[in-house]
Amino acid sequence: MTTTKTEADRQAITLTGAFTNYFGHEPDGLWRAPGRVNLMGEHTDYNEGLVLPFAIDRSTTVAVSARDDRTVRLVSSFGDAEAVEFNLDTFAPEDAHGWSAYPAGVAWELEQAGVPVPGFELYVSSDVPVGAGLSSSAALECAVALALSELSGARLERTQLADIGRRAENNVVGAPTGIMDQYASMLGTRNSAVYLDCRDGKSVPVSLGLEESGLVCLVIDTKVSHAHANGGYAARRASCARGAHQMGVGALRDLDSTDLPRAERTLDEETFRRVRHIITENERVAGTVDLLRTHGPHAIGDLLDASHRSMRDDFEISCPELNLAADTARANGALGARMTGGGFGGSAIALVSTDDAARVKDAVLTGFAARGLQTPDIFAVLPADGAQKL
Ligand code: ADP
Ligand code: MG
Repeated sequence: MTTTKTEADRQAITLTGAFTNYFGHEPDGLWRAPGRVNLMGEHTDYNEGLVLPFAIDRSTTVAVSARDDRTVRLVSSFGDAEAVEFNLDTFAPEDAHGWSAYPAGVAWELEQAGVPVPGFELYVSSDVPVGAGLSSSAALECAVALALSELSGARLERTQLADIGRRAENNVVGAPTGIMDQYASMLGTRNSAVYLDCRDGKSVPVSLGLEESGLVCLVIDTKVSHAHANGGYAARRASCARGAHQMGVGALRDLDSTDLPRAERTLDEETFRRVRHIITENERVAGTVDLLRTHGPHAIGDLLDASHRSMRDDFEISCPELNLAADTARANGALGARMTGGGFGGSAIALVSTDDAARVKDAVLTGFAARGLQTPDIFAVLPADGAQKL
């Protein structure tokens, strides 16, 4: 009898082989965690607001074995990522550099949380594009967090592991991100998005029903990363903090559309537009969830478009490539399209009827070529399950 191997099985076999070749013995296990697409709710997370990401069918897998000392050895198949070795007893967060800060940071934060982490050997492989706004960073953190939690016998809750991943990224990598990416990667379920309230950390799955509605979500990775992305992110956070302070609330989450006239009177013009994006974006997340529950995914196109306009004009985090991707997709039959992720580059998403997917893809490729822009990577994603042991 022959058994059919899926692509995932083949990747697992390849990774096990690579681990065994490198370390000279087999791994204790393989753990996988997905990247994510954010369907709605951009820059709302650090304003204690609402987000609606979904885990995607692209993931990062780590092969890991525990050691009986405190040595850590890290290898990745990604690009020119160099192999790293250190000792948990002498590790300090400020020593961490490059890609190893993610797995090392997770080990460090687990220990800070009281989990006794053994030394370990780890080999990473991934099909989440790096730096495309699909959160390859959270995929890596969550795969490592689940692996080390299980190997140390701690078996933390998924929400606790998501938080470990976020703290690793904030405190050891040094990126001041919110909790959305790690929650999506840990709590995603097949066919559903994760409706997450970033104030209390409570989440519920919301059925997306793309496949049965004859729809796909196309990701258009523009492959551009504008130089001001980090500075732009910090500046937006500062604007939001200033807006909340001047409006007399703890977080912009506490405002809604009825506060807009007062915000316009109180704030300078730019801060007002930043605040208006957050207020309306929170309402679009809630509106998207309502529409998905009552009318299904065909109904959410206009909200995707409105979100893109808000990010382009009010929050000013889009860029010509993202605008071109979203506009071209829409002009060629997409129900709706928006940039996704932190902005200033990365990816756009387009909700497209399965029948129109090839046409939209061709039109975007043609549009980019006509302007002499780098060829984008365009592929369909489906909502997938969150982190798991293989
Ligand atoms: P994004 O999360 O949008 O993909 P980030 O800049 O947040 O982009 O995270 C990308 C970084 O995460 C990479 O530069 C690298 O340091 C690390 N990383 C992600 N995936 C891998 C991998 N498979 N192997 C090694 N490092 C990785
Ligand atoms: Mg990231």
